[in-house]
Amino acid sequence: MKGASFHRGHGQKYILFSLVDSESSSPWGYRSYRDYLAQRFPGKVVRKLCLEAGFSCPNLDGTLGIGGCTFCNNRGFVPDAKGRKDLREQWERGKEKLRQRHGEIDGFIAYFQAFSNTHGPVEKLKGLYGGAMEGFDECWGMSISTRPDCLAEGVPEFLEELGKRTFLTVELGLQSDRDEVLKNINRGHDVACFDRAVNDLGNRSFDLCVHVMLGLPGEGDDAPERMGQKLASLPVRSLKVHNLHIMRGTAMAKDFEEGRLLPLSKEAYLDGLRRLIAELRPDQFCQRVIADAPDRLLLGDSWCQDKQAFLKDLGAGEVPSENAGGLRVSTPTIQP
Ligand code: SF4
Repeated sequence: MKGASFHRGHGQKYILFSLVDSESSSPWGYRSYRDYLAQRFPGKVVRKLCLEAGFSCPNLDGTLGIGGCTFCNNRGFVPDAKGRKDLREQWERGKEKLRQRHGEIDGFIAYFQAFSNTHGPVEKLKGLYGGAMEGFDECWGMSISTRPDCLAEGVPEFLEELGKRTFLTVELGLQSDRDEVLKNINRGHDVACFDRAVNDLGNRSFDLCVHVMLGLPGEGDDAPERMGQKLASLPVRSLKVHNLHIMRGTAMAKDFEEGRLLPLSKEAYLDGLRRLIAELRPDQFCQRVIADAPDRLLLGDSWCQDKQAFLKDLGAGEVPSENAGGLRVSTPTIQP
């Protein structure tokens, strides 16, 4: 095992152990999450399976506000508990669908993706995620997406316990490393909040994944290098990068329609993505490198719908789908 240490706030240090520093076949260092899973589960086929646990988002449900991030088209939507299927039922149906689509699969990672999946008291999380571990057969891991401001007292410690029981990844939304950008997109938290969350969650029994976006207004020309360097300095195992695209029904749609905002071109995003990835450490992997949204919701050039073409241009080889080959969902990608 290889190890590396990173300075942590308050005089502490992160100590991050990588399984293996992964060789990259791309000149600028792209390493797919599929490669990482192949290291974690040698010779096995593992897929992520999306589950809807019924959490909401503090930026939508009134805890912080109801407007949501300006790029998010889910403002005002709070998960409907009545319409949602029981988690066990979702699990069984999801496994069946994934096997129908992809053939033989050895194990699954329960992926709690939508909204903020730690937005609640620790007792609720213990019941939900502890129960999921016991109730789901063929569950080889868990992935929990959330915001950095959704870590109530006791939650980091609970996640630590959970990470000792299963292969756990906690996904944190950052989106931009600049406070003024976060403020402009009505994110509801600042960079210091993210740093505190990493301080609380880093160097524990589980992996961290961070979500960032490229193309947000005001991010600056050096955003790819800045954000890549920041991620490389943190105990972060993987990242999801999202090109700014404009969806109908969002605050950004109005700016787009009135000519104040343009989504990134494919060429500009490719360039930025390569520059960001080039800054990462050899033990960091990409879970996603392109946004996901139904065609009917996209405004402007919808080049990001053709993932295969994009990844070919990127030189990334076979498409790593949003869920590392997991269940594709019909809703747009929701950033934690
Ligand atoms: S993008 Fe995520 S954090 Fe922002 S409003 Fe939508 S669900 Fe909430």
